[in-house]
Amino acid sequence: MDTAELNVKFQEVFGAQPDATFFSPGRINLIGEHTDYNGGHVFPAAITLGTYGAARKRDDNKLRFYSANFEEVGIVESRLDELVYKKEDNWTNYAKGVLKFLGEEGHAITSGMDVFVYGNIPNGSGLSSSASLELLIGIIAQELFDLKLERVDLVKIGKRTENEFIGVNSGIMDQFAIGMGAENKAIYLDTNTLVYDLVPLDLGDNVIVIMNTNKRRELADSKYNERRAECEKAVEELNAKLNIKTLGELDEASFDEYAYLIKDGNRIRRARHAVSENQRTLKARKALESGDLDRFGRLMNASHVSLEQDYEVTGLELDTLVHTAWEQDGVIGARMTGAGFGGCAIAIVNKDKVNAFTKAVGTKYEEVVGYAPAFYIAEIAGGSRVLSRNN
Ligand code: ADP
Ligand code: MG
Repeated sequence: MDTAELNVKFQEVFGAQPDATFFSPGRINLIGEHTDYNGGHVFPAAITLGTYGAARKRDDNKLRFYSANFEEVGIVESRLDELVYKKEDNWTNYAKGVLKFLGEEGHAITSGMDVFVYGNIPNGSGLSSSASLELLIGIIAQELFDLKLERVDLVKIGKRTENEFIGVNSGIMDQFAIGMGAENKAIYLDTNTLVYDLVPLDLGDNVIVIMNTNKRRELADSKYNERRAECEKAVEELNAKLNIKTLGELDEASFDEYAYLIKDGNRIRRARHAVSENQRTLKARKALESGDLDRFGRLMNASHVSLEQDYEVTGLELDTLVHTAWEQDGVIGARMTGAGFGGCAIAIVNKDKVNAFTKAVGTKYEEVVGYAPAFYIAEIAGGSRVLSRNN
């Protein structure tokens, strides 16, 4: 959707010109999965699939939200002095959460607004449409009310919304990738310190193919919270002899020595994933920077194995996509991306082999799972931004 179309759509819904139009990307994660709430490293990148917005300040304190993706919901109305979670307010709870926390953190939102939203990220598929929406609302508020904010403040407010308003205990990766993205750069982030580097993503003759299972991440949120609790418990047990805050502080060798302190086999495997995945992410960055794309690919494959066997967040759909991808000609590496339990996987594929690749993987997937997956080429995009201003 371009700015002209956004202006027209806004006019259709709200009967006026918007003050400005906006874009907020989705994200893929190259490697470093389920490490962000374990104090480890992540390596995501923003993509050109994302969420568009158009917005206008109002003279009263009404908030009116409309999403072209949720036409059946229609315009949802709230008020600035009533920013509370209501199930029936559907997707607009994300918007209300962001506005609530902006206000709480001292960023005065002085009037209501009309907001139009349209996204082309498949929802619930692990490309983080929710964080994309949160950051979109954040930059809309910043633009309309001239808020003095660093980008990282909006990133944290997005995460707070997810954790405290929506109730998903997720880490900082999604909002950070979406807020801080840069064209053709991956974001190497230490989630413990929030120190990050933009690393050029030079894939030579290869492209990143996103493979969507088209399976909604059912139970994903409760399983997500469960994994998080398992890791916290493992830290507690390790601290009978160690003094760590997160699993990200350990390397494989030290984990191995102390793993006997963890009193449950499943928990040992969960913690082992958090530790080994963090170490793989360090190695993957080095491999990418030294131009060793094949090693990068093998680390991606190893990441998937660990998520499948130790962390157990993949399932038949993701495993079928990824295992079939590994067998194809011209594939450098493949793994699930995002929280798992359905959602998307990614593969780095030689650009001349993409057609044969999607055909082979699609056919096998349908045979095994019974319905078709979807494929997109991921182009690596900049972070959330204003697209145009009307005055
Ligand atoms: P994911 O972040 O993996 O895409 P989530 O379940 O966390 O999946 O977030 C999806 C939810 O985010 C949707 O159900 C909806 O409430 C909200 N959302 C995302 N994109 C849009 C959009 N374009 N318009 C309205 N709501 C959206
Ligand atoms: Mg989400």
